[in-house]
Amino acid sequence: MMGKVLKKADAVVIGGGAVGTATAYNLALKGKKVVLCEKKNIASGATGRCGGMVVHCYGRFLNIEKTDYRLIFTRANTEIMKEYQQNFEVDFEFQQVGCLDIAIDEKEYDDLKKLLEIQRSLGDDEIELLDKKETLEVMPNLNPELIFGSRLRRSDGNLNPFFLARAQAVEARKLGAEILTHTKVDEIITRNNEVQGVKLTDGIIESEFVVNATNGWASQLTDDTEVIPVRELAMVTERLPDLPPQPFEMLCNGDFAYGATQTASGNYNLGGPGPARPPDYDYYDERIYADEVLRVMSYISAVFPSLNDVSVIRSWVGTMAFTPDGMPSIGPMPGIKGLYMAVGYAAGMSWAAISGKVISECICNEKPSLPIERMDPGRFIGKPKVKWPQPYDLTVCHDFLTGGA
Ligand SMILES: Cc1cc2nc3c(=O)[nH]c(=O)nc-3n(C[C@H](O)[C@H](O)[C@H](O)COP(=O)(O)OP(=O)(O)OC[C@H]3O[C@@H](n4cnc5c(N)ncnc54)[C@H](O)[C@@H]3O)c2cc1C
Repeated sequence: MMGKVLKKADAVVIGGGAVGTATAYNLALKGKKVVLCEKKNIASGATGRCGGMVVHCYGRFLNIEKTDYRLIFTRANTEIMKEYQQNFEVDFEFQQVGCLDIAIDEKEYDDLKKLLEIQRSLGDDEIELLDKKETLEVMPNLNPELIFGSRLRRSDGNLNPFFLARAQAVEARKLGAEILTHTKVDEIITRNNEVQGVKLTDGIIESEFVVNATNGWASQLTDDTEVIPVRELAMVTERLPDLPPQPFEMLCNGDFAYGATQTASGNYNLGGPGPARPPDYDYYDERIYADEVLRVMSYISAVFPSLNDVSVIRSWVGTMAFTPDGMPSIGPMPGIKGLYMAVGYAAGMSWAAISGKVISECICNEKPSLPIERMDPGRFIGKPKVKWPQPYDLTVCHDFLTGGA
């Protein structure tokens, strides 16, 4: 082994976001001696920068097979969230207040209708199509000039992502897990295609199992994983009187925009893509630029004209991740015994808990409670690497799936 052995564990989880903390908790629950290594602080990655929306089936994918598959996982996740919310010491403010997918013209509304029909025909009867009047009844502070109608799923909602990660970390620690912050993993150590542990700056942790839960950073530690980092931006307004909007997603001024419900402290939370900055297209660039802030501020005026004069008090960017087929990678990494992946989450708030559960089942040699074959982390091995020209250019995924990338 390369370096001083600092400690020995049954499993090392790399990454202290929603997914890593869920995994550490579930492994500790099953009696494993777990060490979680986080290079910065708990929730310092995408988790602490996200909008906290819990959306069972985000986006407008017409690939219904995938949609269906997603729902199996995200619904299971919601059941676990309810249980955690009830039993955990830290309240992470999970609430099922619904989420609107807003159409701003007739064409978009027709697309929503098509999607609704397909989903209903496959037994997903949770989605409601709302016309303009009904949408405004659900969310009266929306701009009536801007909207055409919406799709509503009442079981969606939101949570406080910092508190979710903290809640899981606290429970994991109570069960004996060690949570090491400011502890960067430089390398996953393998010998003869078998995991031996992880290498830190000052030594190694020996372990039979390692879980890579670093999402946007995953490919820095595991070459064969195909995870595409994406920069996304968010901001909050000053505190406002009670006027809780629904969480929503929409295309706004030609851009994707999202917003979570007014937080418990009264702030509105809004965001959208923060395109990678040329010349070097650095998706890990955590600086925020004036033009990005102004763009998202313009969403606020467009979506909520009544809030034209409010101040934005804080804005930030974070790095999250996509995979070429839009599904996360969850399970054992083929070819390396003991290495598990839980990465590729673009909307991790509705996946984290179930991912942690399934990974812990795999590691403990139990049958995973949900089928994970479609999320095999090895499914991109040997395929051409995806070049991601700009975030949200989903034609890249399309080309890849049809063999064109
Ligand atoms: C602005 C923004 C808004 C978003 N809004 C939503 C939303 O409303 N709803 C939703 O569901 N999702 C949203 N997302 C996406 C969501 O944040 C992610 O899907 C989710 O947080 C992924 O969680 P994770 O634990 O996998 O990753 P992360 O939270 O990114 O955790 C990975 C961790 O790994 C650590 N790490 C990396 N490399 C190493 C290393 N070598 N050693 C040790 N540690 C390492 C990082 O520091 C990081 O803390 C948003 C993301 C952003 C950026």
